[in-house]
Amino acid sequence: MTLDHLGPQEIILIHDAARPMVSRAEIEAVARAAARDGAATLAVPVADTLRREGGGTIDRAGLWAVQTPQAFRFGLLRAAHEQFRNDDRFTDDASLVEAAGHSVTIVPGNRRNFKITTQDDLDLARTIMSDQMETRTGFGFDVHAFDPAKPGPVMLGGVAIPHPRGLAGHSDADVGLHALTDALLSTIAAGDIGTHFPPSDPQWKGADSTVFLAHAIKLLHEKKAAITLLDLTFLCEEPRIGPHREAMQRVISRVSGVSEDRISIKATTTEKLGFTGRGEGIAAQALATVQFPK
Ligand code: MG
Repeated sequence: MTLDHLGPQEIILIHDAARPMVSRAEIEAVARAAARDGAATLAVPVADTLRREGGGTIDRAGLWAVQTPQAFRFGLLRAAHEQFRNDDRFTDDASLVEAAGHSVTIVPGNRRNFKITTQDDLDLARTIMSDQMETRTGFGFDVHAFDPAKPGPVMLGGVAIPHPRGLAGHSDADVGLHALTDALLSTIAAGDIGTHFPPSDPQWKGADSTVFLAHAIKLLHEKKAAITLLDLTFLCEEPRIGPHREAMQRVISRVSGVSEDRISIKATTTEKLGFTGRGEGIAAQALATVQFPK
């Protein structure tokens, strides 16, 4: 990649991908300092006593542990790189620019922006990042009655399953996707499927319920949500769900972007009890577990 289109006064930031926990405020602060002074780096004061192997304590006063991003006027950085083209003494761009005769402003950073290099670092980073997310669980429930006047198939979990009778409903009556959509909407307290797709609106007549699911997913993405688990249970005597479980996982995965190993499809009868037991309709329950940035 060439950077030749950049002007000499433009600010370029160089970051180490091993420091994923840098904050927006830190990035902006170091960019501002470089715009003012030409060169700047994030750094934190050394807190530990430093000791050289074999003896000798190093006075830590005035010592900083250098981080990234480092920010520079592009002209300055390019000149320093050209001057030291074949010199491999430097471990970062700030020391290179400094060796070229330009001072580097220190912008106090945060210890959280540490470099992940060891397993310990990775464990600590995971702990910190999980602390920045909150987990919410949403529940959904739906029922559709069989319509004796409507021939099959029935749509369940996005899959057309052969059956003598169809399910009554304004849309395609996919009781599974409706329960799942409601569970997802619950995690952002955004009402239910009817709030977003009123049954009174003729455009949703016979609608493919994957449209409803996709809409809920879109709303969650706008909140930077990460779906941990989708758990869908059908309550019915028939049709049998098991043979179609994997097909449902595939459809729901395709629509939601959630991997199939995080999409649970289950079914139970109600031992011939109640409306599901009498074969008058199908019920579905769903849980969605979703992580959101705090
Ligand atoms: Mg419904």
